[in-house]
Amino acid sequence: MVRKIAIYGKGGIGKSTTQQNTAAAMAYFHDQNVMIHGCDPKADSTRLILRGKMQTTMMDTLRDLGEEACTPEAIIEEGFEGIKCVESGGPEPGVGCAGRGVITAITLMEMQGVYDEDLDFVFFDVLGDVVCGGFAMPIRDGKAEEIYVVASGEMMALYAANNLCKGMVKYAEQSGVRLGGIICNSRNVDGELQLLKDFCDKLGTQMIHFIPRDNIVQKAEFNKRSVIEFDPECNQANEYKELADKIINNKNFVIPKPMTMDELEDLVLKYGLMD
Ligand code: ADP
Ligand code: MG
Repeated sequence: MVRKIAIYGKGGIGKSTTQQNTAAAMAYFHDQNVMIHGCDPKADSTRLILRGKMQTTMMDTLRDLGEEACTPEAIIEEGFEGIKCVESGGPEPGVGCAGRGVITAITLMEMQGVYDEDLDFVFFDVLGDVVCGGFAMPIRDGKAEEIYVVASGEMMALYAANNLCKGMVKYAEQSGVRLGGIICNSRNVDGELQLLKDFCDKLGTQMIHFIPRDNIVQKAEFNKRSVIEFDPECNQANEYKELADKIINNKNFVIPKPMTMDELEDLVLKYGLMD
């Protein structure tokens, strides 16, 4: 059975980077069949897998050629280690609703049975921390069964993660969606590891992995590759390999218990006062 995973988190926190490197590690080290469905109008969820190639998006194809042209052959590209890549894309800037595009794209793919074919994992890479409209759809309609939230020790990242948990609670009963854990993508904040562990305890979930901040991520990105393709032997590749392994074997799925704003502020303040 294919496992459908959505990655959420504050903008710029490292969702697309983490998700592509984890997908690459799943395929390269663990022999998994993986698909990435980018749900960000920026359409930058698959670049590292496709060596920088800008993919024709579903929304572009729909707009220019119509629904019949949106076939799997036309819109799925295969990249590193056979990873299948799709980008929803979005409307022209300032015109139309991007969230609506996500709904259309996922529904079209489902109608064509794309997520069922011979896959172990599908990753939805969803824009920012938006829990409204189309961007909440993978959570709301059970399109993704497992959610991982990328966060760091910075206040706004924790705030966004907590908000996403509120969104999940709202839809968990009807859609069956569950939180699989928080991924800490480190920003080298003081006491970050412990802060994230405490944060996860409060939410009733696990910190599934702590990914160090490492310049090799940028280096690989400049070379238009995942870290795994760029240098599979390096430490950072090993971190993504571990995260991939933990996701593959994860049994810890919960409906989170989001914090009130006061609780969150108290938690962060405790760490802010530490030396
Ligand atoms: P998002 O998809 O959440 O908006 P991105 O994945 O585009 O964020 O990441 C933003 C930037 O952060 C990227 O340029 C990426 O190279 C950098 N980055 C992400 N994770 C790491 C890391 N662990 N170490 C160093 N740089 C990172
Ligand atoms: Mg992104």
